[in-house]
Amino acid sequence: MSTIEQNLQDVRARIAAISRNCARSPEEVTLLAVSKTKPVTAIEEAIAAGQYAFGENYVQEGVDKIHYFADKHQGHPLEWHFIGPLQSNKSRLVAENFAWCHTVDRLKIAQRLSVQRPAEMPDLNILIQVNISDEQSKSGITLAELPALAANISELPKVNLRGLMAIPAPETDYQKQLAVFEQMHQAFLTLKAQYPQMDTLSMGMTDDMPAAIAAGSTLVRIGTAIFGARA
Ligand SMILES: *Cc1c(COP(=O)(O)O)cnc(C)c1O
Repeated sequence: MSTIEQNLQDVRARIAAISRNCARSPEEVTLLAVSKTKPVTAIEEAIAAGQYAFGENYVQEGVDKIHYFADKHQGHPLEWHFIGPLQSNKSRLVAENFAWCHTVDRLKIAQRLSVQRPAEMPDLNILIQVNISDEQSKSGITLAELPALAANISELPKVNLRGLMAIPAPETDYQKQLAVFEQMHQAFLTLKAQYPQMDTLSMGMTDDMPAAIAAGSTLVRIGTAIFGARA
């Protein structure tokens, strides 16, 4: 068995165990394999182990991989998520190539994605990125700005507002991680009451996955625990 296959089995088992511990069903938690900076051979190993959803942070690197697998891969369809910071001048590449964008944090970007999404493709699934705790980061909006942005985005054609995403500031204490993720979950439930199509709360990485799942994450973005440390 390859290391990546073994790692994937371990991560899946951890997701299942953590979910059961907090009385959630493991099927409620989607595993997104974050393959940024990793070669296509690593992704091929993950595919062989039954992983079909991948997250990429850099537009051109992600598009190159999407094209590579579109030409080559014959089996189960792959689903590509853009999870990195998005500049306006790169939005077209995201709109034309990815199935999801997790990092929408201003109306202008959502409008561009809406206009640039090709008519023949299904709607682009988008998440609003919330800056829940990381004052250093310039990405993400505040919770106070969320209702207005969600209202504006939900009117746009060719994009489907599926939920929220957050990258909290690094924190090693489980209870502190949990408190931040619970704020996100509360914001998600409040918004979902108004927009029933919202079904995705993207939070949890290698170092804070247990707290994210306990707080209600529906999608964890895991890189290191699957592919090993990045250079
Ligand atoms: C790199 C990255 C991840 C994966 O982080 P790991 O700690 O390697 O699991 C998840 N989400 C985002 C937005 C990232 O940039």
